[in-house]
Amino acid sequence: MFDRALETADATALRNHQWRRVQTLAHAVTSANAFWTAKWRAAGLASAEDLRSWDDFARLPLISKRELVEDQAEHALFGTNLTYPLERYVRVHQTSGTTGTPLRWLDTQESWDWWARCWGFVLAGAGVRPGDRAFFPFSFGLFVGFWAGFEGARALGALAIPGGGQDSPARLAAMQTLGATVLVCTPSYALHLLQVAHERRIDAEKLPVRITVHAGEPGAGIPAVRARIETGWGARAFDHAGMTEMGAYGYECQAQAGLHVNESEFVAEVIDPATGAAAQEGELVLTNLGRLGSPLIRYRTGDRVRLASTPCVCGRTFLRVEGGILGRLDDMLIVRGVNVFPSAIEAIVRRFPVAEFQIEVSRDGELDEVRVLVEVDGGETGARRVQEGLRAGLGLRLEVAPVAAGSLPRFELKARRVVRR
Ligand SMILES: [Zn+2]
Repeated sequence: MFDRALETADATALRNHQWRRVQTLAHAVTSANAFWTAKWRAAGLASAEDLRSWDDFARLPLISKRELVEDQAEHALFGTNLTYPLERYVRVHQTSGTTGTPLRWLDTQESWDWWARCWGFVLAGAGVRPGDRAFFPFSFGLFVGFWAGFEGARALGALAIPGGGQDSPARLAAMQTLGATVLVCTPSYALHLLQVAHERRIDAEKLPVRITVHAGEPGAGIPAVRARIETGWGARAFDHAGMTEMGAYGYECQAQAGLHVNESEFVAEVIDPATGAAAQEGELVLTNLGRLGSPLIRYRTGDRVRLASTPCVCGRTFLRVEGGILGRLDDMLIVRGVNVFPSAIEAIVRRFPVAEFQIEVSRDGELDEVRVLVEVDGGETGARRVQEGLRAGLGLRLEVAPVAAGSLPRFELKARRVVRR
């Protein structure tokens, strides 16, 4: 189903493998995909034959999420990043989209198999084997989330157990009854299940769960969170990184020394986000090699990473980022489980007569609590209007407090309006 020999291939073999797949990808998109044809033509690349070397590859334009969102807004429903006629696509999913219009993404039969293969690497890296029973407490809705993880468990030969349509006590009962040995969910949900187990006097540590795999939040890469999950479940907790529009690209090995990037299925670059030049620490830029129907080529993930300079003790030659994803470049907040970008808050606050504002963030357990201070016309009444705007725009009730005019700091250059308390 998937070739793990490449995990330990030497650099030349890996690079050659990637290049063959970049060529296949380039031929597929330059003939048929309107999005990439237009982007590349604008950058002076008329056909796949013009892509002769990695130097040429490095001259391809960097693409941001904003461009994808705009493309889908202009070309409903699915935008122009489609290599094949719509009938070729068999799955539709979308980003969690809690901060605006969700991004829709289509997959073909081949690219859905590719998703499963990528998740196979994630689960195998964590030590999941055929015979394991992997439980997925996930809603199985439009958000791609753990849908692909479920497919990955199947691809690996494990028993995949869907945990949708159940509340937490029912999920715990299902895990007990079916003897789940692997739990795949967000780090906060793993902690929440522990809390529910505690309330029901279920000793989670005595359940047969031996491995937990986490995505969606940085938690499993944060030592304190990982320790709580591992102690509570009596298991080893593994981090994973992926994106709806990109795929499941990062995973931990038994050494748990940061995330490996699956270079057999992705080309990874790290750039200085300001200049675009290659860097040791900076923004992760990815190209996926197996999603020809709707690929992303040199996509700015917005994730900040630091490349490890030493080989991993596990023997994998795939590149490794120390400490996992260090953060979102645009400083995303997680408020009551909802992802919120400060830029999304600003976009709403700025609709009101607000002279200056500040986003105060404090940690409440694993989650961010946010208070927005505003220098707003109309004092309390003005602040209430901002609060209503935020609730309508973000679906979140945030505390909004009026402050005296001129009391907040002003910025000449790069503003720092997010203050962590
Ligand atoms: Zn490793």
